[in-house]
Amino acid sequence: MEDELLFSTEESKYRAELRDFLLRTDAKGVERDIYERDYYPRALYKELGEAGLLAPVLPSEYGGMGSLTCEAILAEELGAACVPLAWIHSTSSYVYATIARFGTEEQKDRFLDAMRTGAKTGAIAITEPEAGSDVMRIKTRADPNGDSYVLNGEKRNITNGSKADIIIVWALTNTEVEPARGMSAYIVEQPGVIVLEDYKLLGGFPGTVNSHLKFDGLCVPKENILGGLNEGARILFAELAIERVLYAAMLIGEARPIIELALDYSMQREQFGTTISRFEAVNFKVADMVTKLEAARLMVYHTTRLLDAGYSAEKESAMSKLLASEAFYEAAHNTLQIMGGRGLSEYPVEWAFRMARLSMIPAGTNEIMRYIVQREVYKAKARKNKE
Ligand SMILES: Cc1cc2nc3c(=O)[nH]c(=O)nc-3n(C[C@H](O)[C@H](O)[C@H](O)COP(=O)(O)OP(=O)(O)OC[C@H]3O[C@@H](n4cnc5c(N)ncnc54)[C@H](O)[C@@H]3O)c2cc1C
Repeated sequence: MEDELLFSTEESKYRAELRDFLLRTDAKGVERDIYERDYYPRALYKELGEAGLLAPVLPSEYGGMGSLTCEAILAEELGAACVPLAWIHSTSSYVYATIARFGTEEQKDRFLDAMRTGAKTGAIAITEPEAGSDVMRIKTRADPNGDSYVLNGEKRNITNGSKADIIIVWALTNTEVEPARGMSAYIVEQPGVIVLEDYKLLGGFPGTVNSHLKFDGLCVPKENILGGLNEGARILFAELAIERVLYAAMLIGEARPIIELALDYSMQREQFGTTISRFEAVNFKVADMVTKLEAARLMVYHTTRLLDAGYSAEKESAMSKLLASEAFYEAAHNTLQIMGGRGLSEYPVEWAFRMARLSMIPAGTNEIMRYIVQREVYKAKARKNKE
């Protein structure tokens, strides 16, 4: 792909600096090591922050570049170089982008610098045992008590939940009205959150945690409400558009080395007197993988440009997540097939296959992405018909 047509000089320079950092720190070697020994790459994430490469989405007064497109470049490059590092960045970026957008000046001063330098990481806690796709079913409550709110409830499947320093938690603050008008978002600082379990997803999730959390009378100061009392739903929907497109950018990154592997392997492996890349059953798989990945990548950067320009891009962020997760799944599925028996046991393809399957559930399932796309398309059509 001709990246110079897609990205500005500043964006390309930022990508080059990132690649340089990831090569210098041998992020790929760290990924492989994590696959063998399963540890959390917190130190490398801090180094990334100290190198001034985190949080380009933040406005320049908070040390960023004011660019969601650059934040997506970061997600993509991390996904390509070191999957567990990309997952730490994923929820941390949703947190700092949301605080930058909805936080008070005092909250921005308190949290953004620590997150930009990698000193603190973040998580987003929406999902509950009884509230998955239907986020309006949450039961976690925040009740006022003097200068604080008292949180009670449980959140499940929270990425980085047991490791993050700052967690944005959605809770009900007015049960007399429908949840869309009665929920608020809180910036919760650790310690204080109870970890009930770190899940073993698909047999293992090396270097990443996905947690079941509990709030048992946890006091959160009133100044930690994000964006105002009962404004939680508005913040949630704005956050989800950013979450989905950055998540999609990470998945595109994760797919890139897997497709490279399919190319390398098929050009080396010989059967029936020739390399397997000569068989159409193999090279057409490559054609499909590359076509779908490039389409998903274009959709991602089209969406970040819309969001950077101030559009809500709900439909496009859902399309990005849908296309990217399906492109990643197809890449991992086909590469595994191209590698035959070796694909089932070897790093990185067997891990990528599990990660790709998993990718269709977070940030809203792919069924919910399709629901959003059709809803927005019919809405637009109805508007047009009325004109
Ligand atoms: C790896 C991973 C990381 C995650 N990270 C986070 C995180 O950091 N923070 C967080 O808050 N949550 C997180 N989640 C939770 C995730 O957002 C939810 O799992 C997801 O929204 C689906 O909810 P559910 O699992 O309860 O499934 P359900 O909502 O119960 O859905 C079950 C099935 O029904 C389908 N379905 C439900 N409603 C509809 C509908 N209206 N139309 C068609 N089909 C429907 C779904 O698509 C799915 O196939 C994570 C999940 C995973 C797996």
